[in-house]
Amino acid sequence: MSRRQQDLLLEVNDLHVCFGATKGLFKRAKGVVRAVDGVTFAVRRRETLGLVGESGCGKSTVGRAIIGLVKPERGQILLHPSSVSRREIQMVFQDPNSSLNPSMRVRDILREPFWYQPRRARSAPTDAHIEQLAEQVGLRPQMLERLPHQLSGGQRQRVGIARALALGPKLVIADEPVSALDVSIQGQILNLLSDLQHELGLTYLFIAHDLSVVRHISDRVAVMYLGRIVELAPTDALYRMPKHPYTEALLSAVPIPQPRARRRRIPLQGSPPSPLNPPTGCRFHPRCPYARERGRRLRCSTEAPSLKDVGGGRMVACHFASELRLRGVTPPPSPFYIKGLSKSSRSRPG
Ligand code: SF4
Repeated sequence: MSRRQQDLLLEVNDLHVCFGATKGLFKRAKGVVRAVDGVTFAVRRRETLGLVGESGCGKSTVGRAIIGLVKPERGQILLHPSSVSRREIQMVFQDPNSSLNPSMRVRDILREPFWYQPRRARSAPTDAHIEQLAEQVGLRPQMLERLPHQLSGGQRQRVGIARALALGPKLVIADEPVSALDVSIQGQILNLLSDLQHELGLTYLFIAHDLSVVRHISDRVAVMYLGRIVELAPTDALYRMPKHPYTEALLSAVPIPQPRARRRRIPLQGSPPSPLNPPTGCRFHPRCPYARERGRRLRCSTEAPSLKDVGGGRMVACHFASELRLRGVTPPPSPFYIKGLSKSSRSRPG
């Protein structure tokens, strides 16, 4: 096994996921939605890979395909070494309200993952084990006897995280884990995830639409547009100097937490095209401000750019990546993370 492969935990190669679309009362077939259309990336051990994009771009479907909740049409999902099992991939869901059974007490919710193990691998968790799980995520022991509706949104998400940790995972797929929470609670949950990663050696695939949240937690970021990855780069490089016009437009919309600061927003034309009938050539060309420049239009609308290595650990899918000079952001310190306070954030009730 090569050195590179030893570093990897997950490889996704040419992943395709399709859904049938229907219309009308009688659900007549309308076509095929290519939700994920040839996605390739790898996740290294103990890193956080952020997966961002507009709603409907296919980022959650990638996470669901990895964990086995949707069946890919084709492509490979490889875990390294091959002894890593699906049990060692767990998911934290977006909405803690709907992902927890409302009639179960927290203690039983945390026991539940053990019940669904194959008989051979099944072991009943002790009360001490459940209490330790709760403590790891900052929940007091008395909360174990509560029902989900008796907890705050932040506490419910802590239960979701504890449930994902119950079986000792190696990879955690966090699908918009803070987007349903208030900003102050978002910071606590992000700090908790960072602390747990350091203590337990976890690897995260962090799926989100909010670029400030993704920047805070990710080592590398992959940007998706209409079922494909258009740029993948180390976080700082991507934010300071994007190489794909779509990344530049997304970054121009990130709010700056300084009242006097001004940034020119790059408006994108129209709304994202339908994945039922994606544009030819580069899928971004109907909205790309650089495709309109003379001479580019033809190539952009006829030839699909592939995701190419442009050096510095970056991959970009744009015919003109090497010549475009795009504007990034020089981000101020993250509003979420205050060094040294992260441990105490565990015991807060939020
Ligand atoms: Fe824009 Fe053309 Fe690059 Fe696509 S290939 S991102 S349309 S410049």
